[in-house]
Amino acid sequence: MHILHTAKFLKSAASLRDMPADHGREVAFAGRSNAGKSSALNALATHKGLARVSKTPGRTQLLNVFALDDERRLVDLPGYGYAKVPVGVRDQWRGMVDGYLRSREALKGLVLIMDSRHPLKDFDRQMLDYAAGIAKPCHVLLTKADKLSRNEAARTLSAVRKDLDSATSDAAAVSVQLFSSTAKTGLDEARAVISGWLDLPSVTGGPASPKA
Ligand code: GDP
Repeated sequence: MHILHTAKFLKSAASLRDMPADHGREVAFAGRSNAGKSSALNALATHKGLARVSKTPGRTQLLNVFALDDERRLVDLPGYGYAKVPVGVRDQWRGMVDGYLRSREALKGLVLIMDSRHPLKDFDRQMLDYAAGIAKPCHVLLTKADKLSRNEAARTLSAVRKDLDSATSDAAAVSVQLFSSTAKTGLDEARAVISGWLDLPSVTGGPASPKA
């Protein structure tokens, strides 16, 4: 069993003031609505309850926090997917997510979930810009890869990788992989990245890297 399995719902925060104390290590998950974020969180943490929480009406605009232990958390950021989202909602979203990303010291990396059939939308570029602006690493999951043929998947991966490499001056800060919550592919690769950010033992069972 992977350690992410221990993720338990901690709280939903309506504002930064509601967030747990800013200590330890956090990994945040972002994605346009319907990209497959809840399914990805579920698949990674093998915990059906995670998606239920994130999908509960009224909680989709909140920061949903899951604790692995006292020092490590996963944070599900609210996403919006449609250009026609009301300006007020978008401003509120921007304020909270922007505030979280810019101020959170515990944040060690951002997992950005994109539908592999529709990658790099405005929302995604905005999140990549945020991550670059705060100098935090970003790992992109191109999910629903099961909906693509092997060739299409390979082409998409290489096109997105190329785009990201040309858009950022620091290639190490952004990585990308294929993923499918349904077919359960790409789980180990994603868990290895997240485990590294959280300073957890890797999926292969090795010890966590010693702290400097
Ligand atoms: P969220 O709004 O980003 O949390 O998206 P969900 O996780 O709720 O997924 C949106 C829709 O895409 C649902 O109908 C899921 O069943 C479907 N979905 C999510 N991940 C996958 C996947 O890896 N493969 C396939 N085929 N469908 C998926």
